[in-house]
Amino acid sequence: MNQLQASCRISECKKNHALHYCNICENKNSDHLPRNCPHGIEVFHGTAVQNIPSILENGLQPSTNGTLGRGIYFAKGIEALQISVHRGDGSGFAVFKCKVNPKYCKTSVHPQWQGVTNSEFQEWCLQDCSKYAFVGLFLIQSIVKGVMVVGLMQML
Ligand SMILES: [Zn+2]
Ligand SMILES: [Zn+2]
Repeated sequence: MNQLQASCRISECKKNHALHYCNICENKNSDHLPRNCPHGIEVFHGTAVQNIPSILENGLQPSTNGTLGRGIYFAKGIEALQISVHRGDGSGFAVFKCKVNPKYCKTSVHPQWQGVTNSEFQEWCLQDCSKYAFVGLFLIQSIVKGVMVVGLMQML
């Protein structure tokens, strides 16, 4: 039966296909998983813990009220955590680590977000919402289904 199975160039891929499409760099015969794409940058999206189930099911949704226009907003480092705290309103940290291709992003320096971040920070707005891949999900001091999660890094 093994001879009937097609396999792409990625050894860790379990899919039965001959060609693996990387939605980050758009290589149609990719030798890497999108989350490992060498053309992508690693950025973070902080959100409310209660949004996790719908994000895992439907993906990240574009925002329409950011300073860079419609798109999915990302930051790096401590600011992503601080934005998560702000959005979570006491429910803890939930931060998605993602790979995105900067070619599809607008980026700029956001001034200090009063009451949320300690300083100005760089933000990225991904305009083509299909051009990202999840790498992992960080949960820190989050309450998920009534259970306190102290710290978790889940690969997605
Ligand atoms: Zn594959
Ligand atoms: Zn790629």
